[in-house]
Amino acid sequence: MIDWEAIEKEAIRIRRDLHTYPESGWLEFRTTSVAASMLESLGYEVRTGLEVIEPKSVMGRAPQDVIERNIARAVEQGADPKWIERMDGYTGALGILDTGRPGPTVAFRFDIDCVDVAETQDPDHRPRKEGFASVNPGWMHACGHDAHTAMGLMLARVLMEEKDELCGKVLIIFQPAEEGVRGAPAMVDRGILLDVDALVAIHIGGGIPSGTVTTGCHGFLCTTKFDVTYTGVSTHAAGSPQEGRNALLAAATAALNLHAIAPHSDGRTRINVGVLTAGTGRNVIPGFAYMKAETRGDNDDVAAYVYDRAMAVVKGSAEVYGVRCEVVRTGAAISADSNFVLREIIRDALQGIPGITNLQMDGDALGSDDATWMMRAVQDRGGVATYMRLGSHTGVGHHNDHFDVDEATLVTGVRCLEAIVRKGARFLDRKG
Ligand SMILES: [Zn+2]
Ligand SMILES: [Zn+2]
Repeated sequence: MIDWEAIEKEAIRIRRDLHTYPESGWLEFRTTSVAASMLESLGYEVRTGLEVIEPKSVMGRAPQDVIERNIARAVEQGADPKWIERMDGYTGALGILDTGRPGPTVAFRFDIDCVDVAETQDPDHRPRKEGFASVNPGWMHACGHDAHTAMGLMLARVLMEEKDELCGKVLIIFQPAEEGVRGAPAMVDRGILLDVDALVAIHIGGGIPSGTVTTGCHGFLCTTKFDVTYTGVSTHAAGSPQEGRNALLAAATAALNLHAIAPHSDGRTRINVGVLTAGTGRNVIPGFAYMKAETRGDNDDVAAYVYDRAMAVVKGSAEVYGVRCEVVRTGAAISADSNFVLREIIRDALQGIPGITNLQMDGDALGSDDATWMMRAVQDRGGVATYMRLGSHTGVGHHNDHFDVDEATLVTGVRCLEAIVRKGARFLDRKG
C-alpha cells in the first residue's frame, strides 16, 4: 500500500526546495542533479546531459561563460559534482523503469526550468512568509515547474514501490528550457521517445481551480521566437551622416511593420516585438540594434504565413537602410492535439481519486508549450499523447511575481499519473 500522506509531505518538501533554488532554461544544473540523484537512489536507470540532449537541436542556450558560472553556483547550492560531470554542460534527465513484463511504454514529461522574473518582496507572499522564496536574483518558479518536478519524482517513487504489479516500461522525463519553448526538440532528436506508445504531459494551474483535472488540452499555438541584430555603420551625426548606416531606424521600421502584418482568415495569429535596443550616443548615427520578437499561429500553415511575412519585414527593413541583419531562432513550438482515445482511458483511470471534484475531457491549451514536439513525435510513430491540466489555485496568473500553487494539489497530480500507469496502461498496448 502506498503511504499517500508521506508522498504528499515529500512532494511539498521537494517543491519548496526547488522553489528556493530556481534555475532558468538550459541552466538547471542543481535541479537536474536533484532529479537524477533521487531517480538513481530509487533504482531507476538514469540518463542525463548529452545522453538525453541532441546539442544540434538546442535552442536559446546561454554562452559558455554563463553556463560555467551557473554550474559553480549550482554546486555551491548543493548539486552533486558527480552528476554535474555526467551532464557535460547539458541539463535534463530521464528515468527508466522496466518492469520486465510485456506491455506498453508510457512516458511522462515534466518541465523543470523557472521564469526570468524576480519573486516579490511582499512579506505576505507565502514562499517569503514560510522561508522558501527564491534566493537566485531575477529568477523564480512562477509557472509551477517546481511542482511538476516534485510530482515527477514522487511518481517515480510510487511506481517503483508497486513495480511488481505493473507491466511494460515507464519513462519519466525531466525536460529543460520549456520557457521560451527551447528544450523539447533536443530531447526528441536524441531519440528518447522512439519506442513510446503513450506520452502524458501535465501542467499545473492555468486558471483552473483546485479539484478540477483536464485529461486533454487543445488549441496550442505554433510559435517561433527569434532575435534580430541589425549592424550598420556609426558615424558623426552632423559631420558625415550620409556615410552612416542607421541600424536604429531599420529596427524601428521593422518593429512597426511587424505589428502591421495582416491577420489570416484561417486562424488566429499573434506577433510581438518584446525588446528593442539600439544606438550608443546622442551624436552618433546608430550602428547597432537588437530586437527580440515572436510570432504565433493557430496551425502550421497560419504560423508559417505570419513567420514568413515577419522575415520579409525584418530583411526588407535592413535593405531600406543599407544595414546587415542576422536572425537567430531561439525557440519554437508546433501545434498538437491530445488523442481522444488516451483522454478517455485517462478519464476512466482517474475515477474515484481523492481530491478530484471535476474531471474534464477538454481543456484550453492557453498559449504554447514545447511539449507539442514530443506529442507529435509520438503520434507520428503511431502512438498517442495528451496534455493534461491539474487545477490548482494560484492566486495570480502564471509568470506573475506573486505566483504560488496550492500545494494540496500536488499529491492529487501524483495519484492521477500513478493511476494512468496502474489502471490505464493495459489499454494502451499496441504490441500485445
Ligand atoms: Zn511558463
Ligand atoms: Zn509552464
